[in-house]
Amino acid sequence: MHIKENFLKLKAGYLFPEIGRRVTAWTDANPDKTARLILCGIGDVTEPLPQAVRDAMHAAIDEQGVAATFHGYGPEQGYGFLREAIVENQFAALKISADEVFISDGSKCDTGNILDIFGKGNKIAITDPVYPVYVDTNVMAGNTGEADENGAYEGLVYLPCTAENDFMPAIPEEKVDLIYLCYPNNPTGTTASRAQLEAWVAYARANDAIILYDAAYEAFVQDPSVPRSIFEIEGAHTCAIEFRSFSKNGGFTGVRCAYTVIPKSLTVTASTGEQVSLHSLWNRRQATKFNGASYPVQRGAAAVFSPEGKAQVAALIEHYMGNASLLRNACISAGLTVFGGENAPYVWVQCPQGIDSWGMFDKMLEDAQVVITPGSGFGAAGEGYFRISSFNTRENVEEVCRRIAAL
Ligand SMILES: *Cc1c(COP(=O)(O)O)cnc(C)c1O
Repeated sequence: MHIKENFLKLKAGYLFPEIGRRVTAWTDANPDKTARLILCGIGDVTEPLPQAVRDAMHAAIDEQGVAATFHGYGPEQGYGFLREAIVENQFAALKISADEVFISDGSKCDTGNILDIFGKGNKIAITDPVYPVYVDTNVMAGNTGEADENGAYEGLVYLPCTAENDFMPAIPEEKVDLIYLCYPNNPTGTTASRAQLEAWVAYARANDAIILYDAAYEAFVQDPSVPRSIFEIEGAHTCAIEFRSFSKNGGFTGVRCAYTVIPKSLTVTASTGEQVSLHSLWNRRQATKFNGASYPVQRGAAAVFSPEGKAQVAALIEHYMGNASLLRNACISAGLTVFGGENAPYVWVQCPQGIDSWGMFDKMLEDAQVVITPGSGFGAAGEGYFRISSFNTRENVEEVCRRIAAL
């Protein structure tokens, strides 16, 4: 019997279990104060699914109850109605066609599964701090060595993102093959400018590298000069794959729908010298291993682009960004240095002098009964910062702001 021993290299999911352990220890010791706890650590939405989405899903369920309108297996790539609505509403003028959009049940899965189409021996660059999925899926795939005592894996190229470089990593000196970029960023809540993305696209083209661009938070961009898609950058169609999700804009975290855009012009040279289209490899992968997102879910996702759906999603974004603004201002008023939170639902806060990320976690828990996420949990370069999520009710956010002011 052989197992995939790469899995044994994984650090046993350290961040969220450790948060849970510390919260449990505190609640056990402080049963009288437990009701005061407010969770600002999670990256999950809190507001209900838009009415337009629920209406469309109800109607689709009813269609499933009638033989004449029943849908069995759908296309593995997603239904045309959704792929077309996405292109029309999200990629107008960006030279993306409906058949370059692959519908799925989540960007977490897609950003992990994409490694199926890449071979061994690629040099992989990831930003630090980072969404842990990119790292762990590469460990599972065997693209790394062992982790060191700081949790950094041998073989990965870490690109530190700190206040000093505006949370946008320097272009690597060495050649890498795959680069994960996520903007607006989780966890830092910061954005990439057009000029910065142009530099990455130029690097990728010059080095035959591919940018895996996670735009899960695209809908939170408020500043019209901030790019929402890598495909706004000239040349990206030959060097980038973009991941998008309905999770954070439409509140689909519990419904599951996302998509991956692979331009047909994105090709790589195989060892035989043959030009191979990554679109066709991903199409083959999905057709073989995936049977499509469910019909009612895809109808619900398409309703995000209806006039009612757009208005309801805009109201959700306004709610969360209003929260982010309150949290930013509360931290600034408390004398803290704050990043992000202007085009993303995360506020990234520098710990006061002399306190590290976990120290700040404990302080916020003990003194304010607010659970935040320690920056070091997202990577070594996150040390000295903490993340406050704006995914919350307004009432909770206002209370958190009062408690930050009272610290
Ligand atoms: C929330 C999130 C996603 C979305 O994942 P789903 O599987 O579509 O819910 C993707 N990337 C990042 C960085 C995220 O934070």
